[in-house]
Amino acid sequence: MEDEYFMKLAMKEAEKAEAEGEVPIGAVIVKDDKVIASGYNQREQSQRASSHAEFIAIERANEYEGSWRLEDCTLYVTLEPCPMCAGAILQSRIPRVVYGAADPKAGCAGSLYQLLEDNRFNHVSEVAPGVLGDACGDMLSHFFRSLRSKKKKKPAVDN
Ligand SMILES: [Zn+2]
Repeated sequence: MEDEYFMKLAMKEAEKAEAEGEVPIGAVIVKDDKVIASGYNQREQSQRASSHAEFIAIERANEYEGSWRLEDCTLYVTLEPCPMCAGAILQSRIPRVVYGAADPKAGCAGSLYQLLEDNRFNHVSEVAPGVLGDACGDMLSHFFRSLRSKKKKKPAVDN
């Protein structure tokens, strides 16, 4: 299935985040079956609140297209978009969003709010949830589990 193929590429982006000690979230933007932009979470390195995977990918796609409009694109992201990213998706007119794991604490593509398919806005983005959702969620839970065990294993400091 095509959606799974591109979601796997988004997962590869998430792996890059993990390799850099970031929460593993990745995104790709596809136009005419071609990846035109990608991004992964870089919030710790950049210390910017906007450094979410899909936000970075949207900015790169804008640059690539030379346009703020991404009307023929599909966004793939491993975690359900937060309110900021859902806003950027609407602002860039992306018509379709495919996400992996649901985010019960911040998700605005159906979990907490459904900002993308609310036709009171001037743009609606179709959402395909849960594509390779378990695999995307496993990456996240594995990351947080190993973070916790690293903390536990830290030796006590003797003075
Ligand atoms: Zn976000």
